[in-house]
Amino acid sequence: MTPRFWAVGTFAVLLVALIGFAAVAVPWHRAPAPRADQLAALGRLPAEQVARSRAFHAALRPGSYAGMALGLLAVLLLGLTPLGARLVEFAGRPFGDHWLARAVLGGLLVVLVTELLTLPLAAWRHTIVVRYGISTQTWGGWSVDLLKSFGVGAILGALVLAGFFTVTHFAPRWWWAFGAAGAAGLVVLLSFVLPVVVEPVFNRFTPMSDGPLRTELLQLAARDGVPVKDVLIADASRRTRAVNAYVSGLGPTRRIVVYDTMLAEATPGEIVSVTAHELGHAKDNDVLTGTIMGALGAAVAVVALYLLGSWPWLIRLAGVDSIAEPRAIGLLLAVTTIAGLISGPAQSFVSRRIEARADVHALELTADAQTFEAMQRRLGTVNLSDPDPPAWEHAMFASHPSTVQRMAAARAWARGDR
Ligand SMILES: [Zn+2]
Repeated sequence: MTPRFWAVGTFAVLLVALIGFAAVAVPWHRAPAPRADQLAALGRLPAEQVARSRAFHAALRPGSYAGMALGLLAVLLLGLTPLGARLVEFAGRPFGDHWLARAVLGGLLVVLVTELLTLPLAAWRHTIVVRYGISTQTWGGWSVDLLKSFGVGAILGALVLAGFFTVTHFAPRWWWAFGAAGAAGLVVLLSFVLPVVVEPVFNRFTPMSDGPLRTELLQLAARDGVPVKDVLIADASRRTRAVNAYVSGLGPTRRIVVYDTMLAEATPGEIVSVTAHELGHAKDNDVLTGTIMGALGAAVAVVALYLLGSWPWLIRLAGVDSIAEPRAIGLLLAVTTIAGLISGPAQSFVSRRIEARADVHALELTADAQTFEAMQRRLGTVNLSDPDPPAWEHAMFASHPSTVQRMAAARAWARGDR
């Protein structure tokens, strides 16, 4: 009974658990409304608005895909050639090549190099988002946000790198077992703790003052059986004109958050509609569903990395001795990036089905398909989302049904098609 034997068994069990859980927890039957209804919805949108959002996305596309391609190329170069290993050695040199210095500083350096390479394309995208009036950020504000997210990423990254390579260092044969458990635990921790810790880094929240809207939102939540502690307003207008609302926190800490942009742009009825959608996520425990799938997926990924590590060709390409040593960070990054690209469409598909269920929840809770449709039109208009994006792009990346799909769903619900 070698560690490898146990790893193959664990991999199979975790994979079956992931597939089994997804099979029962994901609302697979929430398919989009018929295409004819979607086209009818598209026809109800002002032609000039459709043209403007299409022009916006056409302008963004080159920068987005070039950024993706460049990022992929960079991690492949760092991971499938000895370049990544050299970078890690370089970072550890001032510290006597200590494994922990290589792990933390080397890892951060490898990630930083790929981030810096794609930075000009991110800046280009920012100019387009500003030109179309979505972002209200100056270069100063944009840079501060960028540094903040680098900071948050560096702290998290350092913890993960130190944790992972401490395990591989002290348990060279069984690291995959501890690593899988640790990765699953980390996903759970991040999905419940991170929003609470990170939200205040980027936004300020103030309680919504007493008034009819606050009362209506709290009553809506109570009627839905989803108690919330407070209704907060986020100062999103500091960086964007986009509108949004969400529900965060669990049990006694649950709160409704409304962007200040939403208060300025949308009618109270539309804000109620968006909130009803968000309450649907809380009621159906969608965060928990996502967390369980994420935790199982992360554990599967760690065991898969271990099994891949016994492939001599891969190890030789990266110029390392083992996939579990800090010098293999580039290789780990390359493999996880490819795995992310492959699993991305499946994750988006699952997300769209879950979002469609929350839409139906909003329709049932408010029993107001007309306002729901008006809200979708508003979200699409203000956020300049392509109401009916190219099918392949939608399949690859869209986390939500498209605007026309959501409008069509409201119509289908109103005529009793449930
Ligand atoms: Zn949602």
